[in-house]
Amino acid sequence: MIAHIIAVGSELLTPYRQDTNSKEIARLLMDLGIKVGSITIVPDNDEEIARAVKSAMGRGQLVIITGGLGPTADDRTREGISKALKLDLEFNEEIHQWLKERFKQLNKKEPPDNLARMAFVPRGAEIIPNTVGAAPGLWIEVEGKDLRVLALPGPPAEWKPMMEAMRERLEALGRKDVERRVLRVAGLREAEVEERISPFITGVKNPSVTILASPEDVQLHIIAVSRDPEEARRLVEEMVEKFKEVLGDNIYSLEDEPLEKVVGDLLRARGKTLAVAESCSGGLLSHRITNIPGSSDYFLLGAVTYSNEAKVKVLGVNPQDLEEHGAVSQEVAAQMAEGVKKLAGSHFGIGITGIAGPGGGTPQKPVGLVYIALSWEGGTEVHRKRFWGTRLQIKTYSTTHALDMLRRRLI
Ligand code: AMP
Ligand code: MG
Repeated sequence: MIAHIIAVGSELLTPYRQDTNSKEIARLLMDLGIKVGSITIVPDNDEEIARAVKSAMGRGQLVIITGGLGPTADDRTREGISKALKLDLEFNEEIHQWLKERFKQLNKKEPPDNLARMAFVPRGAEIIPNTVGAAPGLWIEVEGKDLRVLALPGPPAEWKPMMEAMRERLEALGRKDVERRVLRVAGLREAEVEERISPFITGVKNPSVTILASPEDVQLHIIAVSRDPEEARRLVEEMVEKFKEVLGDNIYSLEDEPLEKVVGDLLRARGKTLAVAESCSGGLLSHRITNIPGSSDYFLLGAVTYSNEAKVKVLGVNPQDLEEHGAVSQEVAAQMAEGVKKLAGSHFGIGITGIAGPGGGTPQKPVGLVYIALSWEGGTEVHRKRFWGTRLQIKTYSTTHALDMLRRRLI
């Protein structure tokens, strides 16, 4: 079963609005075992919509369209579908009555004429009630073909209940059982992960394995499909075991959890607390840590000590070391970690200092050079790292590395 998704909306072709519906629908389909063949974005234009629908119809068994079902003149999805499928639009009195009633109840006045537009449906279409807004969804089974078209309104609050209502029918179309696992890895680059796991995944289609890398981590998405749910689970489990062997404790989550959550859970379980002093990461580490509900259990203090003066005054960094080695140095990183630990009275302290770029680099201290220090009851360790990327990427890599240093100290 191949599905094609079409997002309708001229605004989605501008830089100001993102098509997030398609990805969310793709996710739901994936979980139902339906493969997504393409995602297309088209403007609010009959011809463009019709062309996209026709093209999708020729390449798959399910076409899902979102957007353009509203009452205004620029909502053209009904017309586009009607053209593509050569099904006339018919006026549905029942929908019209429902729309009018709903409008009157909500607005205490007579409904406008354009409301009637939403009561026109392609001949033979099944109506999917809208439990949140006005525009009904449409389900069309194309006669004589192994093909269905599902049209959903644009607002997520409206289409999600409709997808839920259609779930059983979509499930019946999908391959029965899909087992999905996401492993998260830190401390290895994407290429290193790939090299280690390639003997297990080369030429293997089921389970399929995708490697997704970002400055936050490297993720391994494992998906097995089988008519037998036990079989699907077994296929995934076997692959997970192989990955554990070659990746070891570089895998920080077997359950798709973010690193800051895993580290937070470890701190809580061990009854330990943390404070961080950030320079080049500008508070991002504190932000990541505090994104986790309940982080107040273990996170005591985050200081963004950007200037030399702040490093000295707040953290007690030695001015002579700053002078001699510079703010981006092993000595200063270590003193930041130790200083913030002392200031907060925590078990662990982290210090991050580096050059996030794009300017400010020198041959000795290039952009992307970051010192990350971890201080604990028994000592202080400092890592010198060189990251590549934009300012935000370098900041993110730095915080990931810091969290991973702490994780490794905790396990
Ligand atoms: P429409 O049904 O096309 O009138 O869309 C109504 C509203 O739904 C838009 O103003 C957006 O806020 C939202 N919307 C429509 N299409 C999308 C999409 N592809 N991704 C995310 N939001 C969307
Ligand atoms: Mg629209």
